[in-house]
Amino acid sequence: MAASLGTAVHASIEDIVQMDLSGMEDSEIGWLPHSAEQRLRARWDEEREIFENTPRRGDWKEKNYTKARKQQAGGLELLLSHAGVPSLPPSRVTVALWKRVMSLVLAAEGELRTKDGKLMGILDLLLADIDADGVVTGWVVADLKTGKPPSPDLKPEVRRQLLLYRDILVDNNPNPPPIRTEGWYTDNSRAYAADGDPVIDKAYEAWEATQPGTTPLSPTPGPSSCGGFCDWKAWCPHWWTWRKEAGNLHAGDFVDAVVLVHAFESKTGAASIELCEPVDAAGKPMPTGRTIPANFRGRGALMLEALIADGHQGPVYLGSVLTNAQAWQVGSWCDVLPWSPIPDSG
Ligand code: SF4
Repeated sequence: MAASLGTAVHASIEDIVQMDLSGMEDSEIGWLPHSAEQRLRARWDEEREIFENTPRRGDWKEKNYTKARKQQAGGLELLLSHAGVPSLPPSRVTVALWKRVMSLVLAAEGELRTKDGKLMGILDLLLADIDADGVVTGWVVADLKTGKPPSPDLKPEVRRQLLLYRDILVDNNPNPPPIRTEGWYTDNSRAYAADGDPVIDKAYEAWEATQPGTTPLSPTPGPSSCGGFCDWKAWCPHWWTWRKEAGNLHAGDFVDAVVLVHAFESKTGAASIELCEPVDAAGKPMPTGRTIPANFRGRGALMLEALIADGHQGPVYLGSVLTNAQAWQVGSWCDVLPWSPIPDSG
């Protein structure tokens, strides 16, 4: 939901800085709030459609639209500040002033890519710094951020991202003007500068490390890897054996489990499942005899129905099941997949 909100806000701001203002009087005021609202609503509805067609998701929170409006207003305020008119209410912005704001935008959602094609990023805004005579004195790389503002410094990964954008710009433009890089936090309408040495050499090192090899990477099971969110659990035995050895298999309010589904009533979603445990490092399952009532709902139920329709028999991987009620809850946020661990040998 947070990502959808962020994307809608980003896209609406990028729309507003690329508006067609032809046919409007330069002195016209009062148009910006309506135009901004129209664009946000259109982008919000687009995001909702994408969200609702996403396989694993929670519920769409329509009430967050007010947050999106606040974030969009923060982005507009940052643009107006950059143009030298901070704190001007959008209802007072003339067409002529917005043309000035747009003239400072050199690129919106521009793709940055190194000449060798190895590194890339999507730059939200590239803006011109100008002096009193309107002469360009520098560039500003501005990355819109709808997340929590820094307190007080940018997170290292955000700083690194901004510096990499700057470095790619320098790589592609042999004689650039001075470049500033800023995270534009729409929540509090503040720009946070990222300064520092080039990071591009480290980025190339990271690129080299991502190249596929013939040997599988060593698993790194643990609380901060498998213990969190990992898309590969239905195919990876290591989270399961690690949990068993650590003595916390099936512990907590949200659990991952490998189960046998003994009964499933598609009308109500009620099911009876038997928990399994790994018998070896390869994730061979062994039924434990511990049977639990479960309730499959939403996409969780649809996925189980699809497995049954495909003729799947045997263990099923359930991801992020809610266990704090008498019956385990397998909802739209859960994975329901055949349990098919891939051996380390590939
Ligand atoms: S489940 Fe497997 S792939 Fe995922 S983090 Fe754990 S060890 Fe790595």
